[in-house]
Amino acid sequence: MTTHQDLIDRDRKVTFHASTHLRDFAHGDAPGRVITGGKGIHIVDKDGREFIDGFAGLYCVNIGYGRTEVAEAIYQQALEMSYYHTYVGHSNEPQIALSEKILELAGPGMSKVYYGMSGSDANETQLKIVRYYNNVLGRPQKKKVISRMRGYHGSGIATGSLTGLKAFHDQFDLPMDGILHTEAPYYYHRAAEQEGMTEREFSKHCAAKLEEMILAEGPDTVAAFIGEPVLGTGGIVPPPEGYWDEIQAVLSKYDVLLIADEVVCGFGRIGADFGSHHYGIKPDLMTTAKGLTSAYQPLSAVIVGDRVWQVLEQGTGEYGPIGHGWTYSGHALGCAAGLANLAIIEREGLTANAAETGAYLQERMAATFGDHPIVGQARGVGMLASLEFSADPEKRAHFDPSLKVAPRIAAAAMEENLIARAMPQGDILGFAPPLVATRDEVDEIIARTERAVNRVT
Ligand code: PLP
Repeated sequence: MTTHQDLIDRDRKVTFHASTHLRDFAHGDAPGRVITGGKGIHIVDKDGREFIDGFAGLYCVNIGYGRTEVAEAIYQQALEMSYYHTYVGHSNEPQIALSEKILELAGPGMSKVYYGMSGSDANETQLKIVRYYNNVLGRPQKKKVISRMRGYHGSGIATGSLTGLKAFHDQFDLPMDGILHTEAPYYYHRAAEQEGMTEREFSKHCAAKLEEMILAEGPDTVAAFIGEPVLGTGGIVPPPEGYWDEIQAVLSKYDVLLIADEVVCGFGRIGADFGSHHYGIKPDLMTTAKGLTSAYQPLSAVIVGDRVWQVLEQGTGEYGPIGHGWTYSGHALGCAAGLANLAIIEREGLTANAAETGAYLQERMAATFGDHPIVGQARGVGMLASLEFSADPEKRAHFDPSLKVAPRIAAAAMEENLIARAMPQGDILGFAPPLVATRDEVDEIIARTERAVNRVT
């Protein structure tokens, strides 16, 4: 019989893992784990050990694990027609139905859907759309894109450049030219440095910084701004009050397109169909992935607003078919998974559950950790939460990074059979449970987290 250890040993010899210490893993000095199954909010490894997945994979398994309904939808579609390309007007039934559903959820002003396989490739598509748009409008110099420090938008050359996290730039010569980063909407730290601003004042400050950057670069050179409604991988930081209103006012003043990166927030995670709806954001373009299929198949969708679509049409009228396409765009199995997933979200009211049980999660986090001696802030919205650890919560002081406080607490949580994610920058532990989580399951997440935090302090 193949043991768990056999599998891990084989894996070390042949696989290059994402976000992993390559040498330590290859030489047996970093742990491995083989996951074999899951049900609801739990996953199981090859030894039969069960964990609560407090991060829904990588905040994507929104409907929970083990949904046979989605597996069957994929199977049925594979029997019928698993793939044909979608170039030059070819389509498939699940693609058509899924586009209709996505546009219904996105609401007025949104016009068309373009599919890919990942959040990164969807943002790559966004960058090409933005360039095309300004070329068609006869503004070839209007090409720069502004992202935010601590934003996360992918891991490629261009999308890794949009990402505003050091670990994704160092050693890769990123960011590439033409991509700039403005102030992060990170009230907890940045406002303290700005001498005690209110949230509203800090939002105005962020907008002023953005405007300053646009003016310094020249408004005729700045094409787009990209942001996640809630900063995700950068620390799970909900925006300060009024932030999106202030930012949008600046963008419209200088005719800068707004791309809402909904890869994490889309399809229910914060208790609304999209993060944009929750915060009153009116994007020109939206990026979605993760929750679109709850990761039962890799699928992303770029949602193009009317204003941009009109220009794309005008462009192809002039220049012919658009020079953009992925082999797997509109993959029938991905679209079938997406349809089955969105049907479950709707039927089981998971977006409403994310709002209600999510509010309970926030309440319990604040009650349990609000005054904890090493927790600086317990924050979040809906089913997205984080704990930011601090050496001195009153002064919002950072721990010495060499202490690796969040990774150690995440490891202690694993000992408690709970997965929470040590976020890549800062001492932050992130939570994004599947949207099916119940109050009892939230209580269990909190209890295990508390034991993990206390193990390390
Ligand atoms: N955008 C956001 C907001 C994300 O959180 C992520 C991934 O975590 C991406 C884009 C990139 O998605 P992918 O990893 O599927 O390429």
